[in-house]
Amino acid sequence: MKTKINFLFYIFFFVFTALIFRISYLKISYGRQYTSMSLKQQASSIDKAYHAKRGSITDRNGSVIAESIPIYDIVLEPKTLTELNNSSRQKSTERTLSSLSEILSIPQNKLNEYLSLNPDGSLKYSPYYQVIYKNADSATADKIRSLKLNGVYLEEKEKRRYPFSDLASKVIGFEHGGTLYGIENTYNSYLTGIDGRSFCSITGTETEIIDIPAQNGYTVMSTIDMNIQKIAADVIKEAMESYPCETASIIIMNPQTGEILAMTDSMDFDLNNPSKPVNITESDFNRLSTEKQSDYLNNMWKNFNIYSTFEPGSIFKPLIAGAALDEGIINKNTSFYCAGFKQVNDRKIHCIRRTGHFSQTLEQAISNSCNCVMMDIAEKMGKELFYKYQKDFGFGEKTGIDLPSETGASSLLYGPDRLGPVELATSSFGQSFNATALQSLTALCSIANGGKLIKPRIVSGIIDTNGNVIKEFAPETKRCVLSEDTCREISDLMVSVVENGTGRKAKIEGYTIAAKSGTGEQGNRNDELYTITFAGFLPAENPAVAAIVVIDKPAEYADGVTTAAPAFKSLMEKTIKYMGIEPSYKPKKQVNASQAEIPDYTGFYAEDALALITDSCMEYKIVGCGSKIINQFPKPGSYVPEGADIILYTD
Ligand SMILES: [Zn+2]
Repeated sequence: MKTKINFLFYIFFFVFTALIFRISYLKISYGRQYTSMSLKQQASSIDKAYHAKRGSITDRNGSVIAESIPIYDIVLEPKTLTELNNSSRQKSTERTLSSLSEILSIPQNKLNEYLSLNPDGSLKYSPYYQVIYKNADSATADKIRSLKLNGVYLEEKEKRRYPFSDLASKVIGFEHGGTLYGIENTYNSYLTGIDGRSFCSITGTETEIIDIPAQNGYTVMSTIDMNIQKIAADVIKEAMESYPCETASIIIMNPQTGEILAMTDSMDFDLNNPSKPVNITESDFNRLSTEKQSDYLNNMWKNFNIYSTFEPGSIFKPLIAGAALDEGIINKNTSFYCAGFKQVNDRKIHCIRRTGHFSQTLEQAISNSCNCVMMDIAEKMGKELFYKYQKDFGFGEKTGIDLPSETGASSLLYGPDRLGPVELATSSFGQSFNATALQSLTALCSIANGGKLIKPRIVSGIIDTNGNVIKEFAPETKRCVLSEDTCREISDLMVSVVENGTGRKAKIEGYTIAAKSGTGEQGNRNDELYTITFAGFLPAENPAVAAIVVIDKPAEYADGVTTAAPAFKSLMEKTIKYMGIEPSYKPKKQVNASQAEIPDYTGFYAEDALALITDSCMEYKIVGCGSKIINQFPKPGSYVPEGADIILYTD
């Protein structure tokens, strides 16, 4: 017996010793490896990413105009549900499927399909990750979450929401196919946050859980005022109804700082659904080829005000008159003569009034928008100086606005080497070169602010997640173009355009408005495609607001006086009221208008008749697309109150 016990003891001792040796051996040889594997396993279970929320964009009053909201993909785990095979769990599976079916309006047999098996017993669909519903909103997600269903989970993503839909769509921007537009593009680096992560750091056998929270994106504050933007959008709609055209657009700017208060065109689209066409039906759109659909959308998404170019026309006249004054080439007492045309080499270039304005002061020339006086001024300046001022006013270069895809139109401006006498003459009244609406308005703002060419801005500052302003963009002056005295003189001349000249339809009692209308031709002269503009600022003595209205390619004959000027007036009346701009003088009391005899306009060219009517303080409407007047109402010789409408019928 004792021998047996001794034997067992030796066996036990031997096995135990061998085990100790084995453990020691493993510990020495593989200890680090096993510890590391264990820690890594632990670490991987902790590793978690935190998504940084994209920052918001606000208007200048703090109203949110773009924000990110959470949306959810609903994910089913078929394996979890099929493994629940006892009767209580069977009920749980049924509860999951019937609840999801009801909340998401998915037929239950469709959900059952996700649990179907192959003949070998494996699942037909992905066992742990089957997206059954995409982009559910928070309310739907909350409903599902509250039921605590088995075999289903929610995957959070984010979606951009634009509370004002189509308002300021060209400015705010959006994302499509990986491309960003508008402010969303220019300020992407501020809007994008930095994702965070929670993970386990291993140093030897020491572990540390490192938790780096996500840094949400900053808020970008725009200079746009959505109330003024709405005013501009409404005026665009009114203008399009009154004067159908291919595109109508508006920019409103603070002429002192370059801050854009509103920027809109008639192709503004819903930012929440940017591929929805705006001026054709969806069925017509769907009938287009893929290439044509893409062309349509690209055209719709372009920001007309900074991308499309046209001849600025007569709004260029006050600028070049200012340049000539500043250079001492003319003074405000210089007298001019307009015979209705100017012979330049072999070309007879007409004034807008073919019968001539005859003797003209500079004030009369600007007020009557006389081409011949401008051609004389440009001739006196010479091509080198003329081109210098064109460039100084910012034509042929980008304004530098903080929006993508701006056109500089440098190739659409004659350099001194190509600026022959004819080109110089036609350029003097704003033809033969192209500009964007923003270039034209920025140039005009230099008259308003005492001679500075400013850089327009669409964003004023960046705000961090604690509400602190971390960056402010101050107004930037690109260069000084004219002296303050010259600007005051030109501004006075532009006031007389509205008080007594071609801009009377923009007059607002009590306010001093400095403005100018313009008409530029597009492409081939025979195509008769026009761009009508009206631009100005107020109050003239201390300008607080400047604006341009563009009517591009009107369907019928039109000019700035009949189309863009009333739209400008409507725009300014509403903006003045909203901004609380005080009147410059007490409105005069209306006196009984005296009677005037109506002359015979039949046989005149339309433009000559219009010039005569404008001189006589009458208002007019044109019916027809022809160039000559064939009839009129009231008839010649009748008496009407001053300011009455005269209707002219063309051939
Ligand atoms: Zn003239």
